[in-house]
Amino acid sequence: MPSPNPSLEPGPDQQSVRLAAAEERIAALERSDAALRARLCESEARHRHTCELRRLVPWSAAPNGDILEMAPLWTTLTGLELEDSLGTGWVAAVHPEDREPAGAIWRQALATGEAADGHFRLVMSEGEPRWFHLRIAPRTVPDGSLSGWYGTLEDIQERRSAEEALKASEALTRSVLESTTDHVVVLDRDWRITFMNARATKLIAQMCEGKAGDGLWDLFPDHQSTEYEARCREAMETGRPVRFEARMVRADGWLTLNVCPTGDGLAVFFRDTTDVMRASEALVEQAHRDDLTGLANRALFNKALEEGFEGRTERDTSVLLLDLDLFKEVNDTLGHPVGDKLLKEVALRFRSSLDEGDLLARLGGDEFAVIHRPGDDGRSVAALAERLMESFTDCFFVDGIAIKLAASIGTASSSPAHLSANDLFKAADIALYRAKEEGRGAIRAFDDGMAERLQARQTMKVDLDVALVLGELRLVYQPLLDIASGRIAGAEALVRWRHPTMGEISPGEFIPLAEDTGLIVEMGDWILRQACMQAALWPGERTVAVNLSPVQIRDETLPQRVLYALSNAGIAPSRLELEITESVLLQDSERNLAMLHTLREAGVRIALDDFGTGYSSLSYLRHFPFDKLKLDRCFVGDIGRSPQSEAIIRAAGEMGRAMAMTTTAEGVETAEQLDWLRANGWSQAQGWHTGRPMEAGAIRDLLVGGEARRRKTPARHSPLRTKALAG
Ligand code: C2E
Ligand code: MG
Ligand code: MG
Repeated sequence: MPSPNPSLEPGPDQQSVRLAAAEERIAALERSDAALRARLCESEARHRHTCELRRLVPWSAAPNGDILEMAPLWTTLTGLELEDSLGTGWVAAVHPEDREPAGAIWRQALATGEAADGHFRLVMSEGEPRWFHLRIAPRTVPDGSLSGWYGTLEDIQERRSAEEALKASEALTRSVLESTTDHVVVLDRDWRITFMNARATKLIAQMCEGKAGDGLWDLFPDHQSTEYEARCREAMETGRPVRFEARMVRADGWLTLNVCPTGDGLAVFFRDTTDVMRASEALVEQAHRDDLTGLANRALFNKALEEGFEGRTERDTSVLLLDLDLFKEVNDTLGHPVGDKLLKEVALRFRSSLDEGDLLARLGGDEFAVIHRPGDDGRSVAALAERLMESFTDCFFVDGIAIKLAASIGTASSSPAHLSANDLFKAADIALYRAKEEGRGAIRAFDDGMAERLQARQTMKVDLDVALVLGELRLVYQPLLDIASGRIAGAEALVRWRHPTMGEISPGEFIPLAEDTGLIVEMGDWILRQACMQAALWPGERTVAVNLSPVQIRDETLPQRVLYALSNAGIAPSRLELEITESVLLQDSERNLAMLHTLREAGVRIALDDFGTGYSSLSYLRHFPFDKLKLDRCFVGDIGRSPQSEAIIRAAGEMGRAMAMTTTAEGVETAEQLDWLRANGWSQAQGWHTGRPMEAGAIRDLLVGGEARRRKTPARHSPLRTKALAG
């Protein structure tokens, strides 16, 4: 540095200044050296610290592999002193089982002169083995020759444990996925298969050449745009598991699938549930079948009608309801096993009469139903009903017994008026009701008038309820002529109803209503008392006949009611004649017979009314000693016209006489008929010719007058005169 002093010799001041500057420079150098040293120390410490944290032991070795230096961490870890570990002393810390692989790493490096690495265990100072990673790298001088080796030993125990744990958990997952009875396919977010268990692999191999890595929809394009894709997408998009059942696309069967989102795709668990589904289908099927006939039952019928009816307004669905006439009688007389077989036979015949697509059901008991949906070439519902009716042309044969059956059929077709399945069914039911009213073997199609009539009937039922209280009912009496003497032996009480707006209603119409509602018991009681009180006013021992409904016979208090009516009127039981029809003996015959015996034992006479119109099984005549047999008027009308009917009347008369019964012919309308009956030995006649039903006062006058005349002139009475007197 140029000096401001021009003299060459420095003065004493100048020398001291220089010295001070030199000292200053030395001090500065020392300071910087110390700083450098400190920085170096710090860096070394940091490096050592990092190594210790990573449990990394740096080392260096001579070209032959002898260890020259090792970080002190080595001693901390293994407990071996550094000087004991130099050269090949370090091998003492290697796990005895791993000495060979550890040596091999070194041999490889020495043989090739290149870097090498590998894993082995070192035994720690506490005796515990831990895995270490040995890395060896060559150290070369600028001319490329080997000057030695350096490298690290790194404690990798934690990483290795984690890897082992992962491997173990993967192995577990795999073994679970393999041992499940499900087929498992794992998919990534791009619908690529990342895993298939053995079951799935096998199944997929039967369908296509699928393997992990393939796109699902490439393998199964036919499953795309089906429920399969929709539900899998749903699981993928919502992240929620989806379970569903679906028909197999490539086979006839069912699969049940559980689709579980995995975070990076889906795990699809599926199994073949064809057997289960078939079994449950069979159960549903069974719940919809009538056990006896194998036909659809009411539940299936209703379901099919509802389903088929949805949204329909055109005339394209018809319902036919069929009710067997007289089936109950077959069951009661021939027994239930025969009845069951008969129902099966009926089902078979019906079935063979149907069109394709018709559904035949047994609704219960002897009720059958058909849902008919004629296609373009289908038959009309009327034609089908005729065809079903023809099933009854021939007798049925069950256990060698020939059984003649008939049915009543009601039909209804959908129209805008019947907007629901229920409406249509009700309409068919009304039509069936009408058909039954018309007697056996009738077919009726629903028309709107029927609903009105049914409505009227409902109204009538309500009105009938109060008719008795309001005094709208009364009894008329029809004389019973003793043919031989020409005397009036008594009269039959017949109930009449004068409706305030509808006028006279015949008992044929309202008695069934009263039976339906149960009102007949109370009404019958009133009739009994009325009739007995009326008879009490008649001269002599004239009998009064009262009709009993089967519903009354089922009433256990009937004997008391009868006795009360008799004692109340003060007439002898022998003057009361109770008329029952054959149907009483066909239903609940045991109980009803017991009831009839009780009544007869009380001294009341029992007459069998309308003989010849019912089931006409003569066997019950053996079981009950009727006092009177009343032949139905349909036979008497044939006298002089039908030799067959005459033969029947003759036979019935003879049978009655043989069994000591009074024989009464009903519906005698002409003198010729009366003469014929007299000639054939019949005891009594009842009919318009011998006397129309008349009011209570009229019959009493007739009987009292007749008695007076009889006493005056004990000659025979002409029936014609009786009729004239009856007015
Ligand atoms: P039913 O017991 O056979 O009564 C005879 C029916 O034949 C009566 O009809 C009578 O008016 C009618 N009749 C009598 N003679 C002749 C004739 O010469 N020609 C014709 N064509 N008919 C004749 P009605 O009064 O209409 O009774 C019908 C049915 O109603 C009765 O038949 C009986 O089953 C029932 N019935 C009538 N009154 C009662 C009653 O008080 N209680 C019960 N439970 N049923 C009754
Ligand atoms: Mg009668
Ligand atoms: Mg009768």
